[in-house]
Amino acid sequence: MTMKRHPYAGDGSHTTSYYAASANPAPERPELVGDHRIDVCIVGAGYSGLSTGLHLAEKGYKVAIIEGARVGWGASGRNGGQIVNGLNASLQTIKKRYGQDTATFVAGLVQEGGEIIRERVRTYDIQCDLKERNIFTGLTGAHMKELEERMNLWASYGIKNQEMLDKEQLREHVNSDLYAGGLIDHSGGHMHPLNLALGEAAAFERNGGVIYEMSPVVEVDHASPQPVVRTAKGSMTCQTLVLCGNAYLGKVVPTLTSRVMPVSTQVMATEPLGEERAHDLLPTDACVEDIRYILDYYRLSGDKRLLFGGGTVYGGSDPRDIKAKLERNMDKVFPQLKGVKIDYAWSGNFALSFSRVPQMGRIGDNTYFAHGYSGHGVTGSHTFGRILSEAIDGDLTRFDVFEKVPWLPFPGGRLLRVPYSVMGSWWYGLRDRLGV
Ligand SMILES: Cc1cc2nc3c(=O)[nH]c(=O)nc-3n(C[C@H](O)[C@H](O)[C@H](O)COP(=O)(O)OP(=O)(O)OC[C@H]3O[C@@H](n4cnc5c(N)ncnc54)[C@H](O)[C@@H]3O)c2cc1C
Repeated sequence: MTMKRHPYAGDGSHTTSYYAASANPAPERPELVGDHRIDVCIVGAGYSGLSTGLHLAEKGYKVAIIEGARVGWGASGRNGGQIVNGLNASLQTIKKRYGQDTATFVAGLVQEGGEIIRERVRTYDIQCDLKERNIFTGLTGAHMKELEERMNLWASYGIKNQEMLDKEQLREHVNSDLYAGGLIDHSGGHMHPLNLALGEAAAFERNGGVIYEMSPVVEVDHASPQPVVRTAKGSMTCQTLVLCGNAYLGKVVPTLTSRVMPVSTQVMATEPLGEERAHDLLPTDACVEDIRYILDYYRLSGDKRLLFGGGTVYGGSDPRDIKAKLERNMDKVFPQLKGVKIDYAWSGNFALSFSRVPQMGRIGDNTYFAHGYSGHGVTGSHTFGRILSEAIDGDLTRFDVFEKVPWLPFPGGRLLRVPYSVMGSWWYGLRDRLGV
């Protein structure tokens, strides 16, 4: 029965997003049927799985990706499309918690994910409306101070392609009264996320990789010297297993379940605004996010819609009226859009780690995992995919650093982590509203 085969993904169809409606043509891949063997098996065809798989396939490995729904069905095909350098946790936090060496190491890779994406788009001619630059906006003096400190900190690690924008300078990029100013990162960008995933999947297949869709893994045996994953109709035995199910993996691998928490966030797409109106809102076509705890993020699509995202629901459920929730926020940023028609609204889950630092590790000798990008995973998942591929190829240098970063459990354990996190989020949200 359908529900049995797709316990987390309904019938496996993409969500009702603008991205699904404007996706490039892609083949439907077969289900996993019968018993198979492969060098490397990856669970999940989001950016983490596709990045790992493509790096390995380019090196000549025989790799299969098993996806429970469709390529890019999860966060990777629904996100804000913002290519933001860095991990969610700041370099300052990483330095405080894990020491200078780890911070220096992380600073060395915060721009890598964006570079991987641009290189993939170039090499494989992926049509995904790739654009340059991202902007962080601040609403208060305290936010501006925070942004300046961030810029100076990054500059101290040699990352110098960021610039502060005062209120008037920001206006050249974002036509809103709401902000005190911002910080522009010239090496950020944005793109159509589902088309990026579909392009990476095609590149993976061009390099000999095999993808199975509509094949949720229901059991993982990672204790055997050769790990095995099982689906309703088949199994895959491999030398190396990589788990990239992120927020949607649920309870399939119990040792991973408590490490991250699913959190949903929402996006909506206006009707096409036309060249002139779109240019009036975002004259340089940069993507934007503010730096509040519960932030707004937005950008223009290739066909000049405003894609506006924000909000979070701990535990990963979907709000009843996404449009109403986001329209309130959009009106504050761009009152000139009041009454504009909203064509699409959707929700998706990312995996939050308590420390906001994404996690990479190994269970037993041959099973790797990566997850927990905490809402900023477009670049991180691409970098982690490369680092996992290096580890599987025998170079553990970078993997070892991340594996040693201790993960912190959510207070309250599995039962109370959602209410506790809601309380924490309420507190930070209140600080945002009070402007402190
Ligand atoms: C609405 C939204 C907006 C976001 N906006 C941004 C943004 O603008 N910028 C940014 O940097 N980050 C953003 N993020 C976060 C970013 O999208 C994610 O961090 C990133 O895509 C994670 O990639 P992933 O491959 O690890 O996970 P996913 O893309 O979620 O992929 C996991 C895949 O595994 C599959 N899977 C799970 N369980 C199983 C199973 N048992 N069997 C088989 N397959 C399985 C799922 O179907 C899914 O396709 C956003 C996230 C959301 C939800």
